[in-house]
Amino acid sequence: MAEIRIEHVTKAFGDNVAIDDINLTIEDQEFLVLLGPSGCGKTTLLRAIAGLGMADSGRIAIGGQDVTYLPPGQRQISMVFQSYAIFPHMTVHQNIGFGLLMNKVEKAEIDRRVRSAAELLHIEDLLDRRPSAMSGGQRQRVAVARALAMEAKVLLMDEPLSNLDALLRLEMRAELKRLLADVEATTVYVTHDQIEALSMGDRVAVMLDGKIQQCDAPNTVYESPSNQFVGSFIGNPPMNFMEGTIRRDRDNLTVAVGEHDFSPPEALQPLIRELSGDRVTLGIRAENMETLVAPSSDTVPVTIEVVEPLGAQNLLTAKIGGHRLKVSTHPSLAVAAKQQVHIRLPADQIRWIDPANQSVLYKR
Ligand code: ATP
Repeated sequence: MAEIRIEHVTKAFGDNVAIDDINLTIEDQEFLVLLGPSGCGKTTLLRAIAGLGMADSGRIAIGGQDVTYLPPGQRQISMVFQSYAIFPHMTVHQNIGFGLLMNKVEKAEIDRRVRSAAELLHIEDLLDRRPSAMSGGQRQRVAVARALAMEAKVLLMDEPLSNLDALLRLEMRAELKRLLADVEATTVYVTHDQIEALSMGDRVAVMLDGKIQQCDAPNTVYESPSNQFVGSFIGNPPMNFMEGTIRRDRDNLTVAVGEHDFSPPEALQPLIRELSGDRVTLGIRAENMETLVAPSSDTVPVTIEVVEPLGAQNLLTAKIGGHRLKVSTHPSLAVAAKQQVHIRLPADQIRWIDPANQSVLYKR
């Protein structure tokens, strides 16, 4: 069992709090992704788990053992770095076996584990080569094989694919996912690439300013973001946001965006009624709106500013009440810039956000 339990972990560099009172439990053999913009504290958290940077306060346990004060070598972890950190003067075999040699593992056992890890990564034919004679993708495989050969209970990966070109990255993403499903390790994977995070993780912990904003399954993080930041960071294009004005009539509540009135779902009306000001933010994803050529009772008229054909979809830019929205449509819908169309925003697809703290309101 290698559950990782992180309790109230904080780490600052001078006045800069890099991670702020983090609480997170990563289940045994789970693949957890730490996702967030540059500087949000992902690497600092990963290093704290590894024991490479001691936390200022809090506690970390791996497999039920308190490792807060243990050095990295005693934590049963192995790491893959963005820079690969493989040795150019050693062969691939020596590189993969390096950690095992340092741990004084027997030669025959090193050879067995090196070959088995190399086979998993499909680099068994490269074992006698030196990394200088290899491509970036092959070097990356060596770094992953070296981590797997350690047969550690916990695998920590810091942006392992970020040095690869886009196509190779796409390939390695699926390959790593396949590979790690067969390895009985708990994996923590750092990335700032939201597609990588959604496609690989069992759960994604979205970070900002040293705090975890939301930690959930990829679909949940995408469909039900906990706050405006998560909605805007995840998804391409990001979630659209519009500012609405709340109209609290005695037994009716509506929200006006420009000329258009929206009726929030009944379950959310009390929460919107309780908001302190008269503003609420509406969030909706590009693909959750419907574009019609003819008006209907529940559509909003908009003028298209730009049409971007993206192959599988067309992305329209249109304005509602002074807000520019991205709307995706099927390429078969023939529309052009400057044309007026009618957009349906289904009530159950709108996320209602409290502007005071940017959190999304959900039925309590
Ligand atoms: P990136 O994606 O750019 O690597 P990150 O999310 O991994 O970013 P961290 O590297 O964890 O972020 O950094 C978090 C904050 O702590 C940043 O403000 C960074 O400048 C600061 N920081 C990190 N390491 C150090 C250090 N050794 N000394 C001083 N400040 C540091």
